[in-house]
Amino acid sequence: MNDFPEDPLLGAELDTLAVRAGQIRTHEGEHSEAIFTTSSYVFASAAEAAARFSGDQPGNVYSRYTNPTVRTFQDRMAALEGAEAAVATSSGMAAILSTCMALLKSGDHVVCSRSVFGTTTVLFTKYMKKFGVETTFVAPGDYAAWQAAIQDNTRMLFLETPSNPLCEVVDLPRLAEIAHAKECLLVVDNCFCTPALQQPLALGADIVVHSATKFLDGQGRCIGGVVCGREAEMDEVLGFLRSTGPTMSPFNAWVFLKGLETLRLRMDAHSASALELATWLNEQEDVETVFYAGLPTHNGHELARKQQRAFGGVLSFRVKGDKAAAWRFIDATRVVSVTANLGDTKTTIVHPGSTTHSRLSDKEKSEAGITDNLIRLAVGLESVRDLKADLQRGINAL
Ligand SMILES: *Cc1c(COP(=O)(O)O)cnc(C)c1O
Repeated sequence: MNDFPEDPLLGAELDTLAVRAGQIRTHEGEHSEAIFTTSSYVFASAAEAAARFSGDQPGNVYSRYTNPTVRTFQDRMAALEGAEAAVATSSGMAAILSTCMALLKSGDHVVCSRSVFGTTTVLFTKYMKKFGVETTFVAPGDYAAWQAAIQDNTRMLFLETPSNPLCEVVDLPRLAEIAHAKECLLVVDNCFCTPALQQPLALGADIVVHSATKFLDGQGRCIGGVVCGREAEMDEVLGFLRSTGPTMSPFNAWVFLKGLETLRLRMDAHSASALELATWLNEQEDVETVFYAGLPTHNGHELARKQQRAFGGVLSFRVKGDKAAAWRFIDATRVVSVTANLGDTKTTIVHPGSTTHSRLSDKEKSEAGITDNLIRLAVGLESVRDLKADLQRGINAL
């Protein structure tokens, strides 16, 4: 919320905001942000306590809903996403849950991309449904399907772009138009790009959610999330946190602040290495197809060039062969980590069909392109030469 004329960061670029936005300094003069590990706050008098509780006087009351370190992280994220406000949560799932609980009610309907994080699907199909919110899933790039799925009671459209793991790119201004024509909120999970590569609010989205666990931290240390958007809606989200408690800890907020300071440099490095590896994999005899929007042959390439600064760190590819061949590839690597996490300095490799997307039926997998010979790579910050040598071990094992 850096919209005051006297703010020296007014009009500052992303690199500056990532390092400095939201910082407060105590009388100790600390250069790096302080961690306020306190659950509650003292008041100068009984009258001040009463004014804080009633909201007549701004200020901290209790760290379930406000904490200076968490606020610094929130203000920095709002600045980076170009949002009026942000609310930090205990995890990425808590960010999505809090958004839904604050802004939807029983009887509402959601249209969701079928290519979203697996647990997000479970949140909608199992838990939101239990409280009377129905969800229809559509292919992310099928605009007619989005339009057709909207009902009179639809309140929210939800998606990730680029999608996981096939890097399908969705035209956000076009989808925003579809959403707003029917007075629906467009909610974008911007986990894969981060604001360093894509700012969905500037492209027409109403709300951005993040798993801070991934690239925002970037070093695989903490679980957290954040919701960014208009002040009025973020007040509702904060109200939900205040009454239910999925709050970010000040320690995690501090770790994420340190992560944000290198965000743009890391995202550029992840993107450059992923592009080099995607290009190299694409040249290999034993690799059938590579999915990465940075490749000119990818069907989302032109669109990604328009709405992203770079193509990000996640790619996937189909090897020639069956599931056993894909597993042999994965098992032959020695440097990269076999894990489903992403957005880490350490490169990770996973077989989506039997892990992240194993909940899908065979029909759903085939519709979503999750074949048995598909492998996902989330490229870290190791040397590309060493990563190629490691992936060559996989190719040799096919
Ligand atoms: C990991 C992830 C989430 C969930 O975040 P957590 O911090 O693990 O709760 C949501 N969306 C995407 C795209 C993710 O990758």
